[in-house]
Amino acid sequence: MNINFNKDNGLVPVIIQDQRTLQVLMLGYMNQEAFEKTSREGIVTFFSRSKNRLWTKGEESGNFLTVKSIALDCDQDTILIKAIPGSTVCHTGSFSCFGEKVSKGFLYELEEKVSQRIDSRVADSYTYSLYQRGINKMAQKVGEEAVELVIEAKDDNSDLFKNEAADLLYHFLILLKAKEFSLQDIEQTLLERDH
Ligand code: AMP
Ligand code: ZN
Ligand code: ZN
Ligand code: ZN
Repeated sequence: MNINFNKDNGLVPVIIQDQRTLQVLMLGYMNQEAFEKTSREGIVTFFSRSKNRLWTKGEESGNFLTVKSIALDCDQDTILIKAIPGSTVCHTGSFSCFGEKVSKGFLYELEEKVSQRIDSRVADSYTYSLYQRGINKMAQKVGEEAVELVIEAKDDNSDLFKNEAADLLYHFLILLKAKEFSLQDIEQTLLERDH
């Protein structure tokens, strides 16, 4: 990799992203030596501007960052690393340096909303009323929405197709919640298959 270390006293910024959820976890800096050590070991080592030395993230806490992929930006002066964090990344104890609630994306936020509707028993919520009707009813709804999607797949009305696809995803999230699984559990299963 041809990285331009010449712009900022030999340092380039490095964005660390969670490989599984794509959450932004932290930002650090690397010099050439830190980058080479990181590439060699598969564990993130920064150059710490406050310690003024190489800093392997996790050297005290044991929460290392295992490298999954490394990419450069358009002009090779910023590094993006997808990694698996050992545990919390921030020294404040927060999962990400950008806070506990750093976004995992829209589907995760929708999952959270579905979960809240059910946990807080919102009386006039469609989600909660379906949940109250039990697993079989929720599973049956997933089946119905899947069939509706199959029917729309044979047509060429893209609005109807997109709406049925959305219905299916929504009911899928309700069923996951009822079965006490999370979207991330399913993602993990897919990741394990993807060798
Ligand atoms: P660690 O590398 O996790 O063993 O942490 C060692 C020290 O580095 C901590 O005591 C903090 O001073 C600092 N530190 C750890 N994690 C971060 C972080 N995400 N951002 C800035 N400083 C950190
Ligand atoms: Zn750049
Ligand atoms: Zn932090
Ligand atoms: Zn539908």
